Amino acid sequence: MATLFLSRYLVPVSSAPIEDGALLVSEGRIVGVGSRRELTAASSGAAVVDFGDAILLPPLVNAHTHLELTHFPRWAQKAGQGDGPTGFVDWILHVIRVKRAVALELFEPSLAAGIEASFAAGTGAVGDILSYFPARQAYVNTALRGHLYLETLGREPSIGRKVLARIGGLLDEKRAGQLKLGIAPHSPYSVSGEYLEHIFDFARRRKVPTTLHLAESPEETSFVHDSSGPLKEQLYPFVGWESMVPPPTRRSPVAFVEACGGLVPSCLLAHGVQVDASDAGRLARAGSTLVCCPRSNARLGVGKAPVELYRQAGVPLALGTDSLASSDSLSVWDEMAFAHSWFEGRLAPSELLAMATINGARALGVAADLGELKAGLGCNFQVLTPAVLPAFNDLERFLCSPGRSAEVSALFLDSWDVLQKG
Ligand SMILES: [Zn+2]
Repeated sequence: MATLFLSRYLVPVSSAPIEDGALLVSEGRIVGVGSRRELTAASSGAAVVDFGDAILLPPLVNAHTHLELTHFPRWAQKAGQGDGPTGFVDWILHVIRVKRAVALELFEPSLAAGIEASFAAGTGAVGDILSYFPARQAYVNTALRGHLYLETLGREPSIGRKVLARIGGLLDEKRAGQLKLGIAPHSPYSVSGEYLEHIFDFARRRKVPTTLHLAESPEETSFVHDSSGPLKEQLYPFVGWESMVPPPTRRSPVAFVEACGGLVPSCLLAHGVQVDASDAGRLARAGSTLVCCPRSNARLGVGKAPVELYRQAGVPLALGTDSLASSDSLSVWDEMAFAHSWFEGRLAPSELLAMATINGARALGVAADLGELKAGLGCNFQVLTPAVLPAFNDLERFLCSPGRSAEVSALFLDSWDVLQKG
């Protein structure tokens, strides 16, 4: 049986917003998107669900996060590490210290809390990174989709081979819940060039997606280019890698990862703050999507991603919250509002909306199912119920202003409202 969902405003994302909008769903797929009048006439006999003075739009996509760290602020306080670190390398040491002090069985409930927080904020798909692999059980029986990337790092090739063999065994499972499994080599400063090449080659042969933190900080640039700076002086001794500092590559982090075979469409790159025009050109030629994480970048003081360079080069941008170790919430709505003000108009509301929906869905291989409202996609959407609706012509700006997260009143994934318990 068909269902007609009605809402005062409807935002398909890939086409213009509709006043007095309607979404017609039959057998779990969207069969019509249009005005209340035309779709009501075309669907007599359909059940009607009227959300009233609300905004109906696609679920959001959090393309870069670490949901296993959702309880990180609590862990940090317990470990007496509650005070915020002062810079990028300090922050990495802080994360390592806190994670080392956490009992392994606490990762799964922390990940489960991250999944719940994502739903509450209207998120329907994630690019999630996991370092404690058994915690993936938290995804079983959830409606969240996207990619779950199993994280690896290190400089010792023999250890790397063992870890990759273990990841290879897990990849046979194909999925955790509905998320496709992939691999996350951590970053160009924490994974050796030889291991990076090996991982990208392995992922290509296994046909699994990858993701990488790339060009995040000036410290990463000086380490990769010259083998110098605080990553060498502080991180390497801290983790016992003093004898494994690599020789200078004389390359930017992006050029280095390109040389390791990592710039491919199936590799989702996060941050991309420290890049120049030739790096942006490399990403564009490779067909890579870049995930911007502005709140994390601001918190760690690493700079702003040059969004104009990416636009000129034609690099698709998505949006991610990163983890609660470097961000205040897992809400992509909050990320959009912050980005709108932080980039001072250089990202238009319509661009931000696309980054947070369709672009992320494409990058995570779920665009045939969600990311926009159009015929053929699954019955996946969310509903915002603000106390006062904005004027219709102010809708997109309203969606990129603070406060939207608390207004999420329904999140339909596979035809079910996951926010309705029981
Ligand atoms: Zn991250």
